[in-house]
Amino acid sequence: MRIFGIITGLCALFCQATAQNIPLNKYGLAVLSSKQQYDQLIKADSNQRLVNLEHYIPGIRKDVRYATTNNFTKQRLYTKTDIYLRLPAAKALKAVQEALRKKGYGLLIYDAYRPYHVTEAMFKIVPNDLYAADPRKGSGHNRGVAVDLSMVHLKTNQPVAMPTDFDDFTFKAHQNYNPADPVVAANRKLLRDTMTQFGFKGSSTEWWHYYLPDYKRYPLMDIFF
Ligand SMILES: [Zn+2]
Repeated sequence: MRIFGIITGLCALFCQATAQNIPLNKYGLAVLSSKQQYDQLIKADSNQRLVNLEHYIPGIRKDVRYATTNNFTKQRLYTKTDIYLRLPAAKALKAVQEALRKKGYGLLIYDAYRPYHVTEAMFKIVPNDLYAADPRKGSGHNRGVAVDLSMVHLKTNQPVAMPTDFDDFTFKAHQNYNPADPVVAANRKLLRDTMTQFGFKGSSTEWWHYYLPDYKRYPLMDIFF
């Protein structure tokens, strides 16, 4: 009870301190949008730091579809393919990579931190929140604690079989879809079990999407790294 009170008190202090420094956008959302605001934030709380996953997690693979036209918008939304997450999410992902490595698998990242204006651009192209996050709410990706990913076989470096391709918004991507192929079901389960073991929550509609449950601690951001 006492610890709970202390934590709540600290959070109130923190959230106020950060919210004060971040101007509200047209939807009334606090979106951090300058390097100066970011520096202030990480000075107050080092867990807010965004880390480059390729530096932080040895051997991690990526296939950043939004830097190509091979994505659901058919447009190139990123100019770079760097993948970043907040420190606690990067730490958890590092533990996932290590656990999977012992079983012969590695992580394949499709998307991680996503600047807020990219979420706005996606929603303009596909204005349906079944497919793209509504900018009036923002996304866990804008907070740097959501990640889209799959696995590769370490022996072949090839992606494992999953129920669908990335960003396939059909029922087959849902958690309660039962794949006919037991290998596909096992791959999806291994990814989900391992991600969950290290603190991530999975999506019920996108097998590739995971996020930290305390995402509200991390403000929406709109800066490129
Ligand atoms: Zn996602």
